[in-house]
Amino acid sequence: MTRSSHRKKKSASWHQTQNRDGFVREANRLGLRSRSYFKLEELNRKFGIVKQGMSVLDLGAAPGGWSQYASRVVGKNGQVFAVDLLDMKPLPNVQFLQLDITTENATDQIQSVLRNSSVDVVISDMAPNITGIASTDALNFENLQKPMFKICTSVLRKGGNLVFKAFKNAESVELKQKCLLLFEQCEFFKPKASRSRSSEFYVIAKKLKNPDQIL
Ligand code: SAM
Repeated sequence: MTRSSHRKKKSASWHQTQNRDGFVREANRLGLRSRSYFKLEELNRKFGIVKQGMSVLDLGAAPGGWSQYASRVVGKNGQVFAVDLLDMKPLPNVQFLQLDITTENATDQIQSVLRNSSVDVVISDMAPNITGIASTDALNFENLQKPMFKICTSVLRKGGNLVFKAFKNAESVELKQKCLLLFEQCEFFKPKASRSRSSEFYVIAKKLKNPDQIL
């Protein structure tokens, strides 16, 4: 098989999966930015993380499904700040910053957009490009997680909540222990809109208790 026919076959199978996927069809029908919208919706219904009037920081926000959902929930008295490597089309009540969170002064840049005030919630659906090589993927993910925790502990108010994407691997238990150093509660959950073949799951960490802890 030539490289181009392999690519065509892969792309056809991606389109078939997208067409079969009820969440994708529903997201298109409702004009949502992504099927991920439904993941945060379910997480929020179950865990009550984002509420009316809150300020929310969305890391890895593009194309904008989570920001769209958060902006609807917080309403006009709340505010959403969205950050991504990639550009993102504007959304109502969402302030966007294009930034790689692994860059050295990322926290300062985010704090300056927030005008040094803290947020009630940090949500992060960030993911590195998946290679399929377990050790590489775990390392790439770890490289995103460190700055995510740093940003989170710098901008999240005491008592605030964090939700972030993680991938199942041998370190999942360690991840819970890490979270419990910072937060009073920590739970893992896989929403229905998360594809069953994907090893992703979400960590819901509630009530920041120890922002000075360095992970
Ligand atoms: N939550 C989004 C939604 O609902 O539409 C989908 C997020 S997508 C699964 C993951 C995002 O993480 C991508 O847009 C990617 O650009 C972003 N990302 C990955 N590495 C990043 C980094 N170092 N800094 C900022 N964003 C990053």
